[in-house]
Amino acid sequence: MKPKYTSLRGVRDILPDELRNWRIIEDKARELFRRYNYREIETPIIEPAEMFVRTVGEESDIVRKEMYIFKDRGDRLVALRPEGTAPVVRAFLENNLYIPGRVAKFYYIGDMFRYDRPQAGRQREFHQIGIEALGESSYILDVEVIMLLLEFLEELGLADTILLLNSVGCPNCRPEYSKALREFFIPNSSELCEDCNVRLENNPLRILDCKVEGCKEIVAKAPSIIDYLCDDCRTHFENVRSVLDSLGIRYVLDTRLVRGLDYYTKTTFEVTVSGLDLSIGGGGRYDGLIKDLGGPDLPGIGFAIGMERLFNVLKDKNLLLKEEEVPDYFVIYDSTLVTKAIILSRLLRYKGFIVEMSYTAKSLKSQLKEADRSKAKKAIIMREDLLVDNKVILKDMTTGEQEEVGLDKLEVSLIGQRI
Ligand SMILES: [Zn+2]
Ligand SMILES: [Zn+2]
Repeated sequence: MKPKYTSLRGVRDILPDELRNWRIIEDKARELFRRYNYREIETPIIEPAEMFVRTVGEESDIVRKEMYIFKDRGDRLVALRPEGTAPVVRAFLENNLYIPGRVAKFYYIGDMFRYDRPQAGRQREFHQIGIEALGESSYILDVEVIMLLLEFLEELGLADTILLLNSVGCPNCRPEYSKALREFFIPNSSELCEDCNVRLENNPLRILDCKVEGCKEIVAKAPSIIDYLCDDCRTHFENVRSVLDSLGIRYVLDTRLVRGLDYYTKTTFEVTVSGLDLSIGGGGRYDGLIKDLGGPDLPGIGFAIGMERLFNVLKDKNLLLKEEEVPDYFVIYDSTLVTKAIILSRLLRYKGFIVEMSYTAKSLKSQLKEADRSKAKKAIIMREDLLVDNKVILKDMTTGEQEEVGLDKLEVSLIGQRI
């Protein structure tokens, strides 16, 4: 069918079969995050645009090219959230959720918006599952957060994940590194893309995640941040690595891993699977973000997983439920028994069964055809001559076998038994 309107480029419908698998993934996340003492939070889809410009960074691709930004009717500059961390931190501060001495742990599940070029695994409206842990600077929390991300993917059946790890330093050591990067890139500036030449002026670190091939080649030879970490950042990173080693969690050190957002400090990480050149999820520390949003000088760390990408990977690896959910019963009835058919359907639904019924009291034969089309497992045929004796016909729609059963007996025998 060709509708008058179709969905916009870069956004799409999530259809029932797919959504059913999404909900299973989300339920697993909720259950696991709960065990790590995270609590769910939901923030608005619209936020002040300025908040993302400030936190994600003026030179980031997100702010420069990808943010959905508009003036509302009250002349306020509004953005559709391009990411989930700044909103959670804002909510944490605005609602006074900080309890001194306690780590505040939140998770969220929701859609984000970036005006990116649509391609496989990249959409303009995409969905993320993320966590944020606020108020603790210990490397032990870094390890726990990374472990949680890997454990979640493992629970979904993804065992062959690759963990990429880096440290992006802090405001103490990063200026020195930025200077070194600038000195390295200036002689090569003619080979860098236009955007990177702007970045060279304002934030050379952003050149490291440029997607242009020519820039990538030069970036490969650039100085590594690891050599510029201050004592604090170095010790922190060594501790993270040493605990990961002790736990037998393997990782690949990737010194170009700076993530596309300015607020990251110290540990950054991403998870991918072999053969996929996109990451499924990632995150890092953001020790200056809470203060930057007007709060106390508290550290924070979190990660986000891209639902669409995760879903595609699970689908490729055959890790999704494929069976369509079908009715347990289809109720068929003589036209005089409409009320009784409605009541029986309701009783069975009350017991937890998926029940469908015919909505037009046609002949029993045509209702049976309807039951067949619905793919129901069993049909219950309510016939006037049998119902006087409290009996119905139970028909197995797969084998075609049928038997007369007492209605009471049917209910009793069905309790706790899903057919
Ligand atoms: Zn540092
Ligand atoms: Zn570039």
